[in-house]
This record gives sequence, C-alpha cells and structure tokens, in this order.
Amino acid sequence: MTNQNEKMITYFKKLDRSFFMDSLKEFAHMDEAVPIGHEQTISQPSLVLNMTLSLDLQPHSKVLELGTGSGYQTALLAAFSESVYTIERIKPLYEQAKERLKEIGFSNIHFKFDDGSMGWIEHAPYDRIMVTAATSEIPRELLEQLALSGKMIIPVGTPVLQKLLLIEKDEYGKIYQEVLDHVRFVPLKGKYE
Ligand code: SAM
Repeated sequence: MTNQNEKMITYFKKLDRSFFMDSLKEFAHMDEAVPIGHEQTISQPSLVLNMTLSLDLQPHSKVLELGTGSGYQTALLAAFSESVYTIERIKPLYEQAKERLKEIGFSNIHFKFDDGSMGWIEHAPYDRIMVTAATSEIPRELLEQLALSGKMIIPVGTPVLQKLLLIEKDEYGKIYQEVLDHVRFVPLKGKYE
C-alpha cells in the first residue's frame, strides 16, 4: 500500500461521520448509507473510502465533485487535493455542507448551488471527477471537462443498480473504462437521469 493511501485511511478513520449528520447520528458508526433528508443519503463509509482511493488523488489535483450531499466525501477529497469544486442541487444540503466544511477549516473548497449534471465548465479541466449520484450514461460534458491524464469515478446504470466505473483519459485524450464494483446510488437529476 502506498504512503498516500495509508495517510488517507488514517485520516478517514478519524473523520467524525456524525458531524456531517443532523439526525440519525446513532447510525453514524454503521457501514451503511443513512438518510440525511430530502430523499438523499450520506454514503456508506467503506464506499466513500474505496471510491476516493480509486481516484488516485495527487496533492496538485483539481477535483470536481457532483453531489456534495452532507459534505462527508468532500472533506476527504479536499484533505488530499489542491482544490475541490463541488455542486449540490438541494439548497439546505448545499448550505449545511458549506457551513460544516468551513467550520472544520477547509479553505480549498468552492461550492455551487446548481444542477451539476453538465459539470462546471468555468473551472475545467479537472484532474479528477467524482460523481456521487447515478447517471444513465456517461455525461459527454464530464468527459470533455476531464483533463488529459485525468480520472473520473461515476456510477452508471439503472436507478436500481449501477456499475461503478473508473474512467481514465490518457495523455493523448483516449478514454479507457474499468468496472470497479456494482452499487446503488440515488439518481443524478437532470440531463443524464
Ligand atoms: N457523498 C455524499 C455524502 O456522503 O454525503 C452523498 C451524496 S448523495 C448519495 C447524492 C447527492 O447528489 C445528493 O445530495 C443529491 O442532492 C445530489 N445531486 C443529485 N443530482 C444532482 C445534480 N444534478 N446536481 C448536483 N447535485 C445533485
């Protein structure tokens, strides 16, 4: 295991999941997705960690995250990259996550309240893209906003079952994809629902 992965695992184990939850905190220690209101969930801890490890973050990485949710995954991304651009379409979740992440000292996270299904073109390209809600196909806009030698994690499939894909764009722009897992995420609303 690389030093970077060890550091991430250590950091993640210390990250208090209940801090990112308003209610149902008694379930925070369970390795399960837990409702956070608005028909959304805080993701399963083991999945958050494995997805983030698979993204292979570098200290200089500029990261786009679609679906801020509680901000739990955003914290892990921000702790191991240069900057994170995160988008959430539900106002109360957006506001709570922003407040929480500022409270614990992150200054490298840029927040946007919007439909992020077509990415965030103004700050593209991104070295890494993390999509935490399911799409029916790989959004063309995200492939375009991914930098050369970039990586993206995205769940793609039906509303009940998706393949968790690792997409890689090589230095010439050629796209490769690998199935990492089978997962069940809430849908990414919008163009690719
Ligand atoms: N990883 C997050 C966490 O642990 O708290 C959970 C993310 S939750 C599974 C998916 C999030 O994606 C929800 O907060 C949902 O509102 C958001 N979402 C869905 N469609 C979206 C869209 N088009 N643009 C931005 N956010 C979206």
